[in-house]
Amino acid sequence: MRFDAKSCLILSPHTDDIELSAGATIRKFIENGCRVKSLVFSDCKKSVDTSRYEQDVLVKECRAAAKHLGINELEILEYPVREFPKYRQEILEKIYSIRKEMKPELVIAPWEKDLHQDHQTVAKEALRAFMRTDTSIWAYQVPGTCSGFTPDIFISITESEIEQKIELLYKYESQVVRRDYFQPNKIRGMLSYFGTFIGLPYAEGFMNCKSVLNLDI
Ligand SMILES: [Zn+2]
Repeated sequence: MRFDAKSCLILSPHTDDIELSAGATIRKFIENGCRVKSLVFSDCKKSVDTSRYEQDVLVKECRAAAKHLGINELEILEYPVREFPKYRQEILEKIYSIRKEMKPELVIAPWEKDLHQDHQTVAKEALRAFMRTDTSIWAYQVPGTCSGFTPDIFISITESEIEQKIELLYKYESQVVRRDYFQPNKIRGMLSYFGTFIGLPYAEGFMNCKSVLNLDI
């Protein structure tokens, strides 16, 4: 089935979430001419090992990753890691203001049952902000925090697209050295597992929160 969204808002609690979970899909959207706006809620300065890196290393890596994907609209906010629930209302209002300006056809957001409190906060506020609208919402999983995530939307990925995804993730040099889920074998394993659902070698997988389809020609 062809999917042809013209505008997509991607919501990433932390600097690397969306690339890990949906990097290949986002690249396809951009190559298809879709307007993609990326909103990252934390600059993750608290998570940086400052004995080895500058405090803004993740911001720089996030900008490099966005450039690699071809994202022209990137906004990085400064909510402190692990404290998003305290800022729930502000996060809702931020998403709501983008909703009014952009009116995206699709939002790609974290999953509401994600165990990480920051992911969960962004997921719930995204659902709230787009309640009673004709915007479709897909949820993504972040490796290791989404126990029970079962995808029901699949985007098939080719071998060369996996190579591009790995190249993209290696923009996060400071994370590659400390997070095992950045390793190419883990990335391939996850995409290969999702591919099995659709009988193809690889796929990125999402859960459907809301799909609004237009059948007019
Ligand atoms: Zn995260």
